Amino acid sequence: MIQQTLVLIKPDGVARGLTGEIIKRFEQRGLKIVALKLVKIDNDLAKQHYTEDISKRLGEKVRNMLLNFITEGPIIAMIIEGVNAIENVRKIVGVTESKAALPGTIRGDFSHVSYSYADKKEIAIKNLVHASADETDAKNETALWFSIDEIFDYKRAGDEHIL
Ligand code: GDP
Ligand code: MG
Repeated sequence: MIQQTLVLIKPDGVARGLTGEIIKRFEQRGLKIVALKLVKIDNDLAKQHYTEDISKRLGEKVRNMLLNFITEGPIIAMIIEGVNAIENVRKIVGVTESKAALPGTIRGDFSHVSYSYADKKEIAIKNLVHASADETDAKNETALWFSIDEIFDYKRAGDEHIL
């Protein structure tokens, strides 16, 4: 089943100059970038992305840390398309806590900090990437970040060997 999912390269990933390295991971897997932009977002959009649900799940404190983090500098937003793209992208990204993320994943290769360290500093764990968690989130998040005319349907050389 071909799906589309939202990926954000968070401010730490852009500031560290890791955008090319991160984007490469999705491209080399055969997944296709169908939308992409560099943006600096305000608190309004941040709140629509990290909704009240985040507070219910992770607490108001973590949500506020996330809102501060995601608005602190430019980020890259993209929509990635492919067969089971939501699950495939999450696997490439790795688990949430950088300390636990396996080498070979983006978080496991480029970050290492624990929840307890980040919590003590009262900052969101700087794990480089956001990726939609499930079909509902992917649908809402792609629609929040991109208009229809920013999303492209195109054939890539090599698709005949991948799809
Ligand atoms: P994700 O889907 O893997 O990004 O994880 P979540 O949706 O559960 O959390 C959103 C983001 O909040 C994570 O990517 C982290 O940046 C941050 N975060 C989540 N849990 C914690 C926590 O317990 N402590 C801190 N400091 N940050 C957290
Ligand atoms: Mg999440």
